[in-house]
Amino acid sequence: MTHPPERPRRFPELRDAVRALCAQFPDEYHRRIDRERAYPEAFVDALTRAGWLAAMIPAEYGGAGLGLAEASVVMEEINRSGGNAGACHGQMYNMGTLLRHGSAEQKQRWLPPIARGELRLQSMAVTEPGAGTDTTRIRTTATKRGDRWVVQGQKVWTSRVQHSDLMILLARSTPLEQVAKRSEGLSIFLVDLRDALGHGLTVRPIENMVNHETNELFIDGLEIPAENLIGEEGRGFRYLLNGLNAERTLIAAECIGDGRWFVDRATRYANERVVFDRPIGRNQGVQFPIAEAHIEVEAADLMRWRACELFDAREPCGAEANMAKLLAAKASWEAANACLQTHGGFGFAADYDVERKFRETRLYQVAPVSTNMVLSYVAEHVLGLPRSY
Ligand SMILES: Cc1cc2nc3c(=O)[nH]c(=O)nc-3n(C[C@H](O)[C@H](O)[C@H](O)COP(=O)(O)OP(=O)(O)OC[C@H]3O[C@@H](n4cnc5c(N)ncnc54)[C@H](O)[C@@H]3O)c2cc1C
Repeated sequence: MTHPPERPRRFPELRDAVRALCAQFPDEYHRRIDRERAYPEAFVDALTRAGWLAAMIPAEYGGAGLGLAEASVVMEEINRSGGNAGACHGQMYNMGTLLRHGSAEQKQRWLPPIARGELRLQSMAVTEPGAGTDTTRIRTTATKRGDRWVVQGQKVWTSRVQHSDLMILLARSTPLEQVAKRSEGLSIFLVDLRDALGHGLTVRPIENMVNHETNELFIDGLEIPAENLIGEEGRGFRYLLNGLNAERTLIAAECIGDGRWFVDRATRYANERVVFDRPIGRNQGVQFPIAEAHIEVEAADLMRWRACELFDAREPCGAEANMAKLLAAKASWEAANACLQTHGGFGFAADYDVERKFRETRLYQVAPVSTNMVLSYVAEHVLGLPRSY
């Protein structure tokens, strides 16, 4: 039995174009990069040259000026093709902070080279070892000295620093004791990593379960020019929150791409593998988990489109973006489990790529926001339950 053809999906031309590019980087490529713990430079380069990572930069700055819906298709197709958008998704959404809150001068200076792919803004340093999810308790400080800010502190899990020219940094610019609300007194800066490395900024890579280029940052007397403060001093936490809806929806789309990859691979293998004189897929114990995974991926996809539509219509979409992220991350993880189980022992063999994608998709239950935080958001902001932390 052959797998039925895929049903028509939204944005078919866009999908075909991204798929054609991804097809130049087959499984062996991603497998080798993972094995060598390398960065998929050629792949990211090709995506950059084709303009896909500048999808959401407005045309006036040289980007494609597309909506979140189209941008999410790019991310979905990367993961659907067996790749991992985690290597480059920051380039798509980190610039949003600059776009929404930067001055006209900052946007004119930075966005065109980012759109052309000459500068990479792939990194965002928010998380700290002491504060964890409790972002308003970060201890990294920024102190104004003349025409510079001087930064002191430490960050953890700052991804893609080694493959970025620019980084968004969150630091406390007014001490916690002096603000009325904990969310006040935090500021966002654009750090030029080309100047910062070795001049107040030290990077230590973190070996981790996924081939994710992520790092600890030690910041000691790092000087940032005053003109690199984004927006108003003290409003950085609000700016950070404003960027989360796009990020969460794009990650949801990546999970949906993963989910479809797992369902396809599981279906194919279940049809091909013969044990006890029958394809294993004839057993309901094998086919039901795959069918269930498919249903959950498709359901999550509906919420992803809802979030995209609201975002692109400039309507509030915090609830939908969070729900899409939670549903999609759960669905891709369940699909990963079903796919691994369907493959039996071969699921553990690197050559089948299942174990690699399994590790990669697991991350999205934890980062960029953990499942519990999404549940807390919905409980408090959608249902009106008391704040739990
Ligand atoms: C590979 C990777 C890449 C990352 N990239 C970046 C990056 O580029 N930039 C960046 O800033 N950060 C990044 N992160 C950090 C990521 O966003 C955090 O790991 C995540 O937000 C969770 O924070 P934490 O690890 O400190 O967990 P903690 O805050 O210590 O939480 C641990 C667990 O307790 C739960 N928990 C905590 N408090 C509560 C509560 N009140 N109610 C219920 N449950 C609770 C959490 O949900 C979590 O499951 C990355 C992380 C990883 C693993």
